Amino acid sequence: MEEKAYLIVAHNSAQMLLVNKTLKDNGIETDLVPAPPESGTVCAVAVKVVERDLEKAKSMIHDSKINITGIFEDKKMRLQGLIDEKIGLSVTSEFLNILKKIEEGENLLEKEIIYILSTNREKEIETIYATADRIRRETVGDVLEIRGAIEFSNYCAKKCKYCGINSLNNGVQRYRMDENEIMEVIKDIHDIGIRTVILQSGEDQSWSTERLAKLIKRIKDKTGMRITLSVGEKSFNDYEILKKSGANNFLLKIETTNKKLFDFIHPDGDYHLRLKCSKWLKELGYINGSGNIIGIPGQTIRDIAKDIMYFKDMGINMIGIGPFIPAEGTPFEILPHGDIDLTLRTMAVTRIVCKKVYIPSTTALASLDRDAQVWALKAGANTIMLINTPLKYRSNYRIYDDKNMVDLDAAIYAANKAGLKLPSYLRN
Ligand code: SAH
Repeated sequence: MEEKAYLIVAHNSAQMLLVNKTLKDNGIETDLVPAPPESGTVCAVAVKVVERDLEKAKSMIHDSKINITGIFEDKKMRLQGLIDEKIGLSVTSEFLNILKKIEEGENLLEKEIIYILSTNREKEIETIYATADRIRRETVGDVLEIRGAIEFSNYCAKKCKYCGINSLNNGVQRYRMDENEIMEVIKDIHDIGIRTVILQSGEDQSWSTERLAKLIKRIKDKTGMRITLSVGEKSFNDYEILKKSGANNFLLKIETTNKKLFDFIHPDGDYHLRLKCSKWLKELGYINGSGNIIGIPGQTIRDIAKDIMYFKDMGINMIGIGPFIPAEGTPFEILPHGDIDLTLRTMAVTRIVCKKVYIPSTTALASLDRDAQVWALKAGANTIMLINTPLKYRSNYRIYDDKNMVDLDAAIYAANKAGLKLPSYLRN
């Protein structure tokens, strides 16, 4: 049996890193994991220690005078009442066993994750979605989290085969926003009350780390908003500079954990480097975002199950799951798009396995069907990212074709239809 563990939650990421470093320097084994639901509403990182190290850890924290919010037992999340008398008649015994494990808060095995990703039995599917919805409610609540995204450059050095802005695609008109243009959009986002901005781009050398760091400081000074970066692979050093200048979150999707598949879709990519980047981000105290693409050619249900287990094992905090959508001018332009149902099912199973995480109802889903974002919010998702890129550039950030416009109206529509509440920080 696994040893009992405790989660140490600090006031902010700097304090959390200090706790982690202090313990590690004194020979205590730690892990960084999503903070438990009972520690408060902010999605934060906690330092995990096993029971036998707890007293030693406490006295070290006390001696070094680090202020912490609290220490919480790493409890299994129990869900009473998933199984009623009637359900046994319409589901298999294998499914009942999986439900029992979910009720008890036990970790699911790969084959069990594969089962719930692929079952075609109506009652089982219905139960999976209801369970994901309930776990979403009990871990992150009923309030939709709304964030604003600025796609500030579509220049990219990479050759990702699925992505419409890869460097080989001559069919895209390239653009790069400058600081002042970005700050104008920041003001708009801030004015409507949004608290987190996502800065996304291709891997654009002209937007150097120093330049980004300056921009981050400027945004922090002006608005105090939380900043999510999604600018691709960088060195540990660069990630550290960006963190110190004020970035809070980082979104770097693994896309697929199947190395063969990863190598196939990323001709100039390095799987181990991508993994390493994600570990660095975690070590540096970023709220760590990952995710995958559903429906890349050759991907199996088993691959998806392994992705979900990876998100859990890595302690990922934000998980972006979107269907593959072909992009003109790429090697994958004539392939069919990923399946909406499988994307929704992956979100639901990710919620069941990973519990307290942010799962966006992705733009890619919205691009396939106006109502798909509603379905995602009923299947475990809890976040919507608005596209705030200026109109004149928007159509050029064509990572895939017919990218939908997700604006505040679309988010409000989705929240209302899914029965989620709008956040109180929105003005009007
Ligand atoms: N350069 C950054 C941002 C990439 S764009 C980085 O490397 O992290 C953000 C996400 O869009 C990618 O992580 C990928 O999952 C998704 N994406 C790109 N092309 C796509 C396509 N054709 N279909 C579906 N998702 C795609």
